[in-house]
Amino acid sequence: MKYSPHAIEMAESILSERRNDAEKQHTERLQEIAENAPEIYRMNNEALGLNYALIGSIGKGGEKKSISESIAAIRERNLTIRHNIRAMLEACGYPGDYLQYHYVCEKCRDTGYHEGVRCDCMKKLLKYYTTEEINERCSIELHDFSEFRVELYSNVPSPGGEIPREKMRTLFDFCRKYAEHFDENSRSLFFFGRTGLGKTFLSSCIAKKLIEDDRNVVYGSLLKLLRQIEDERFHRASGDTTGVLLDADLVILDDLGSEFQTQFTDAVIYEILNERINNRRPTIISTNLTTKELDRKYNDRIVSRITGCFIPCAFLGSDVRLEKMKKGIV
Ligand SMILES: [Zn+2]
Repeated sequence: MKYSPHAIEMAESILSERRNDAEKQHTERLQEIAENAPEIYRMNNEALGLNYALIGSIGKGGEKKSISESIAAIRERNLTIRHNIRAMLEACGYPGDYLQYHYVCEKCRDTGYHEGVRCDCMKKLLKYYTTEEINERCSIELHDFSEFRVELYSNVPSPGGEIPREKMRTLFDFCRKYAEHFDENSRSLFFFGRTGLGKTFLSSCIAKKLIEDDRNVVYGSLLKLLRQIEDERFHRASGDTTGVLLDADLVILDDLGSEFQTQFTDAVIYEILNERINNRRPTIISTNLTTKELDRKYNDRIVSRITGCFIPCAFLGSDVRLEKMKKGIV
């Protein structure tokens, strides 16, 4: 996955902020100890002095044996002091590591690199900001499950005998549980039904919950995502939207069928679905197309991937947006 220059800049600035915070908090704790427990402060200074002495001994010439003896003696003294500092801090009611630097990531000490390679904490930040950039460009508005109004769905049975309100209540519960228990084994979902029935709304609720749970989610209009991918492939824009889509924990492709269909768009849709299915990564597709229209519009490879690997979720009722207007709900 290629990260955007903006993401690299953002990740570096966050890491630098974290280092500054660690530095500032360390200084504040030192000052506090200097005032409240001067003996510990003095010992801490002695330990720091020993660190410098150690570096000095290593750099000094002379007989090998005497150098290693003096290094061992300094190390021994340092260990004793550190042990005493810890014990005295605890006796004064402070945590034993109160005078250590406290980093968000102890592995790389918030530098973003560990043993010469990018640390996981930096990779996570890079992924987050690269995804955020795509979401900002192609996003749908995010909503919360608490905004869902089941009373906007009719309780009059449909011609098929199903009651939309009941059906949507069940679907709503299913989506909420899906978001709450989301993990690498979660299935892909296929939201279908006429326009205005809440497909985009419910998928955005899932996206919001997962983002709150620190998951990497791409949620966007398929039309805009495809345009961006096309611009990148033909060098009209920079970025690696396909890479981000293949790598995300969850991808929500909104409004399948709204795109201007070409061989290129079909190939990209197939590539995304197929790769994600093969890597066991869930995807949510929403569409206004009926299953018959889907069959007619897309080639067998795409249709068989959707029908074979996605859980179908039918949205029933009349246009919720119109119902909202009728009932004066904004
Ligand atoms: Zn790290």
